[in-house]
Amino acid sequence: MAVFEAAPNIFGIDLFEEDRPGRSSAYVILGKEPVLIETGSQKSHDALVMGLVELGVMPEDLRHIIVTHVHLDHAGGVGQMMARAPEALLHCHPRARRHVIDPSRLGAGARKVYGDKVDDIFGPLVPVEEDRVVPQEDGSALEVGDRTLVFYDTPGHARHHTCVVDQITQGLFSGDTVGIRYVPSYTGWNFVYGFPTTSPSDFDPDVMLTTLDRLQELDLTRVYHTHFGVTHPAAAAFDFSRRGTEAVARLIEQVSPAPSLGEVHEALSRVVKDDLSLCGHTVDNVAPLGVDIWLNSQGIFVYLQKQSSGEVKN
Ligand SMILES: [Zn+2]
Repeated sequence: MAVFEAAPNIFGIDLFEEDRPGRSSAYVILGKEPVLIETGSQKSHDALVMGLVELGVMPEDLRHIIVTHVHLDHAGGVGQMMARAPEALLHCHPRARRHVIDPSRLGAGARKVYGDKVDDIFGPLVPVEEDRVVPQEDGSALEVGDRTLVFYDTPGHARHHTCVVDQITQGLFSGDTVGIRYVPSYTGWNFVYGFPTTSPSDFDPDVMLTTLDRLQELDLTRVYHTHFGVTHPAAAAFDFSRRGTEAVARLIEQVSPAPSLGEVHEALSRVVKDDLSLCGHTVDNVAPLGVDIWLNSQGIFVYLQKQSSGEVKN
């Protein structure tokens, strides 16, 4: 299912990130001024444009593009998509602005996490013209036809992360803030499973829990996850995000102060396996989540280093 209906006039498009189905989705809000949420990386653009065309939207028709944050699976291809959508403005967190205008630091950061494979995975990073970028502060609103989209500052996964509420559906475009919804087409399991992402380099469990509290007060009906698809009712996504984040916070206490990355990885694999059985799922191993467990371990490891250096309090 490359294109799926997320709500009336809101559709998801499978980006086939990492060449895998069910990994990442972009969303399109149809209307006179079509809105694209998330561009994925340049490697996803064939799938993205095919999905857009299936929905009757040419890239040139787009009037607004939103990226929840600038991690490459969400916005690696934003420069190329903005070039294909000359009428569009780009909306992002104020702290994300300088990275889309000059992606060099972002590229260097991604290289640290993914190594030399980064170009193969995500393709090149292209800058966006400064005068097309609209930084959206916490609480600011974008009117699109009869629809209002409200932006929220949502740190915890990344300090430059914004989440967007569509007021017609009371749905939240959550980026990486309200967990990852792992679907059978990605995992090969016969159930949907949710766990937060704790990937580098800004992950902070306390900040994440505060953000979840704040978002939950918004009385949302559904969560449009970038990874992957829709949680409806929204409360279920908050439940698994909070449960997983709390489990990771306990892990951090247990392994502190200075475990090796391997020890964190082992501990996190155990946490995920236990969480799966808590949800009633017995699996042979957690290998289907291997990529994320590896990334998440790195994020927890970076957080522990910040704790020891006093950058965050413990
Ligand atoms: Zn992501």
